Amino acid sequence: MEDSYKHKGMRKQLVETLQNKGIQNKEVLEAFMVVPRHFFLDKAFTEQAYTNMAFQIGADQTISHPYTVAFQSTMLEISKGDKVLEIGTGSGFQTAILCELGAKVFSIERQKELFLKTRHLLPKLGYSPKLKYGDGYEGWESFAPFDKIIVTCGAPYIPQKLVEQLKPNGKLIIPVGEGSQQEMILITKSSEGEIKQTREGVFSFVPMLKNTAK
Ligand code: SAH
Repeated sequence: MEDSYKHKGMRKQLVETLQNKGIQNKEVLEAFMVVPRHFFLDKAFTEQAYTNMAFQIGADQTISHPYTVAFQSTMLEISKGDKVLEIGTGSGFQTAILCELGAKVFSIERQKELFLKTRHLLPKLGYSPKLKYGDGYEGWESFAPFDKIIVTCGAPYIPQKLVEQLKPNGKLIIPVGEGSQQEMILITKSSEGEIKQTREGVFSFVPMLKNTAK
């Protein structure tokens, strides 16, 4: 697969669309200029890779809309070196954006097919997050606590273990709701460990599934 001037031009257009939709974080926009989204999609979608659309990525799952990825990344206010836990690796696109932001990324996926595909793809593009095949409801105890946690599937409730695995002054961004739409919730933990929640709008994700990895 190649990353041509044409693809770079399409990325620039996508970045303009994101800016028009209200994304202002410079680092996030720069990351979108760099990560070749068409590598994360089926070849059939290459032409549309830089439109603000979600696509099937196999195992009945979808890659999130670019705006959603940009929005969640912005909410986390990532600093270089932050330890970030992602639930729902999927195609790995959000993972790559987090890596570009300078985070040390830990990402969990419960669909084996996607875990294997993305574990193969990301190193080829120069990204080296730590990936795990497992259940996101459990978090990743052996690497906890995390500065930031991002959930990229619609959770029926806020998993307590994720809140526990957040550092003081940490942030957790998670879409919560059981229907086709969820409310984006931002949780911040104070330096004393106090939890604050704010609602950040309505989004649409595939569901966070409960049963453990097959
Ligand atoms: N960040 C991904 C989004 C993929 S969609 C991307 O940019 O492509 C959400 C992903 O969450 C799917 O791959 C789905 O399999 C995964 N998922 C759903 N429930 C999960 C769980 N309990 N633990 C870990 N991953 C889960």
